[in-house]
Amino acid sequence: MIKQTLEEWRNEAIERFGESAREWAFQCPKCGNVQTALDFVEKSVMGLNDAANAVYQECIGRHVEGDGCNWAAYGLFGTFGKGRIVIAPDDGREVEVFDFATEQK
Ligand SMILES: [Zn+2]
Repeated sequence: MIKQTLEEWRNEAIERFGESAREWAFQCPKCGNVQTALDFVEKSVMGLNDAANAVYQECIGRHVEGDGCNWAAYGLFGTFGKGRIVIAPDDGREVEVFDFATEQK
């Protein structure tokens, strides 16, 4: 699994999807759903700040019925090794997150 610092992760996201974090696309390791924070805002009652924090760890199915599944990267089985580990800058904590989506929706 790719392990990187928060800064490296951010830089890669910008390289792939551009500066606008709401358009960064992540893929659920369980059901393969590709999702952005904007999807969360448009399809659920979530605000953009919450959406931006949920999109890389929670499948949209946790918040929207009939879409995706209920997987979360912070659960017991993480991302089955399909995700990434991001190292938090403040305390060095390792956070498991969904991988970036490799294809556009
Ligand atoms: Zn899913």
